[in-house]
Amino acid sequence: MARYTDSVCRQCRREGTKLFLKGERCYTEKCAITRRATIPGQHGQSRQRKPSDYGIQLREKQKCRRAYGVLESQFRKYYDMATNMRGVTGETMLCLLERRLDNVVYRLGLAKSRPMARQIVNHGHILVDGHKVDIASFLVKPGMVITVREKSRDSEIFKTVRENGSDHEEVAWLELDAENLTGKVVTMPKREDIDLTIEEHLIVEFYSR
Ligand code: SF4
Repeated sequence: MARYTDSVCRQCRREGTKLFLKGERCYTEKCAITRRATIPGQHGQSRQRKPSDYGIQLREKQKCRRAYGVLESQFRKYYDMATNMRGVTGETMLCLLERRLDNVVYRLGLAKSRPMARQIVNHGHILVDGHKVDIASFLVKPGMVITVREKSRDSEIFKTVRENGSDHEEVAWLELDAENLTGKVVTMPKREDIDLTIEEHLIVEFYSR
């Protein structure tokens, strides 16, 4: 499967905002955005022109796609799915992205970043309703229970969560039982539960050109 292999900090610098892809480092002074908030590349600094409407829409789409760690074809599928569902397309698309299993693992605080959560899922550490699910794009539904499999519970990251609880902000649609490393999907996520500063209408405009 294709995946992004370049420096993840370049993605933040390209979008001009923190995408929190590196866990703890993102909150320190070592963050590349804090140190060097210019567009990456040899001509990064000279490329600060006024963007066109298309450019603004493109950047918003890329920012959202990169924050969730999704490749273009898959991201487009979320948009297509959202257009066929009830509700406001942009909000529905964001809620679909939010329901991805890797994002849920991140939101529960079982991983420091979405890329780390994706790896945790891919390596088979996560059970959904008692069954191993190693597909990061798996969409959770209300009532589902997410747990860390027995064999993985003693690894350092999960031990910290068990002892100190999650250091992530609680989200209304998920419930965490830190001691038992178990999370529950209480309800479907709503737009106001998503703290990313994304103007989703620009993404809809980008795809409906
Ligand atoms: Fe982005 Fe984190 Fe790198 Fe900062 S440290 S540039 S927030 S990935």
